[in-house]
Amino acid sequence: MNYYGNPITRLIEQLAGLPGIGGKSAQRLAFHIIHMPPEKVEALAQAISDAKKQVRYCSVCCNLTDDDPCPVCANPKRDHSTIMVVEDPRDMAAYERTREYYGVYHILHGAISPMTGVGPQEIHIAELLQRIDENVQEVILATNPNVEGEATAMYISRLLKPLGVKVTRIANGVPVGGDLEYVDQVTLSRALEGRREL
Ligand code: ZN
Repeated sequence: MNYYGNPITRLIEQLAGLPGIGGKSAQRLAFHIIHMPPEKVEALAQAISDAKKQVRYCSVCCNLTDDDPCPVCANPKRDHSTIMVVEDPRDMAAYERTREYYGVYHILHGAISPMTGVGPQEIHIAELLQRIDENVQEVILATNPNVEGEATAMYISRLLKPLGVKVTRIANGVPVGGDLEYVDQVTLSRALEGRREL
């Protein structure tokens, strides 16, 4: 499909490789970029490159950050004896918005999903286990309330129990199949308050 010459075709191919962008959207974006002022294109390219170079995983909680440890892990006012396990940085942001959680987090970057071939090694469970020592009082499993999230919570709780740490699961106040990110703050706070020990 090299109607446009190599540079444009290459740009379309790169854009089409992004999630949620089909061939038509990729063409539309490519032509939009070609018609943008050069300084805007430069700023876009720079922002992509800087984000990739500067953002990495927090060495403690696996949050995305440009500072290591991330601001939450580095904050002495947080309760470092309570770790909430979430699937995604966006879930963490949702709990931060409730302003009712003062512990720290662990971000898995996914959930176990046999259907799509995501195993325990593909998400950051090993890093969580490394954090468990005598200073950790409770691990709250706040993975999403769907099949993958429940399976992930069960898997992690089986690994944590022998380590002698209290393991809790957030309450089912959240709609089944709903992504935590979209659940309102009151529901999230209730789910956290109503957590039960596993
Ligand atoms: Zn961190």
